[in-house]
Amino acid sequence: MAFAHPLTAVGYIRTPFREKFGIPRQSGLVDVSGVVEMQPGFDKPELFEGLEAFSHIWISFIFHQCISQGWREQVRPPRLGGNQRKGVFATRSPFRPNHLGLSVVQLDRIALDQGRVCLHVRGVDLLDGTPVVDIKPYLPYADRVEGAIAGFAADRPQVLLDVVFSVSAQEQLQHLSSGKMLKNLIEQLLALDPRPAYQRNTATDRVYGMQLENCNVRWRVADDVAVVITVEAGQ
Ligand code: SAH
Repeated sequence: MAFAHPLTAVGYIRTPFREKFGIPRQSGLVDVSGVVEMQPGFDKPELFEGLEAFSHIWISFIFHQCISQGWREQVRPPRLGGNQRKGVFATRSPFRPNHLGLSVVQLDRIALDQGRVCLHVRGVDLLDGTPVVDIKPYLPYADRVEGAIAGFAADRPQVLLDVVFSVSAQEQLQHLSSGKMLKNLIEQLLALDPRPAYQRNTATDRVYGMQLENCNVRWRVADDVAVVITVEAGQ
């Protein structure tokens, strides 16, 4: 039988993303904060001694919300417009054997919360509650490769949309304690146009929605402008 090795969650990451739709498609694209809460047995400061001297870390995690859907031999990467197939191992798709993910994020600080280590990070592309299976430092001399060639994903995704807020969305944001942060986050997320590629060039008055922290954000897209209609708190 092929080698098998069980994985244990050493922690779980808290992020503002309560659903998959709208999450950036790679780490580092949007300045969004997250906190890796280490689990008992892996939460002692000794395990992190020396890590504070690194600016970035690798987070290995499980795409836990895809496990029930299995994996695909070929997938359609969103950046190819969703209509070209590539081999799963040629992509960073969540629908892969073992559902293992890898993200490089900025390490802001290491905190002790009631005796348990919490890693405050930035630039996350992970769902709230994602199980983390390993943490290791990013090593520029080994991990940054000058002159690397990246096939169909050569360039950083472009900002595609301007983002504006309706009067009611602005008012709703003003009433939230985290309103400023949320507005900035919504601007960055919608500018990347989270819609499926096949919906990009069709005129539609469709309303999109995503859950960010405890808020429901609704928007519409017309002529390369995303108009945020409402930001409703309370879910
Ligand atoms: N940087 C990682 C992830 C890239 S895919 C890697 O290369 O391995 C990023 C997408 O994964 C996000 O846009 C989101 O839709 C999805 N995602 C994030 N966390 C997830 C989770 N816990 N389960 C399933 N899908 C997840």
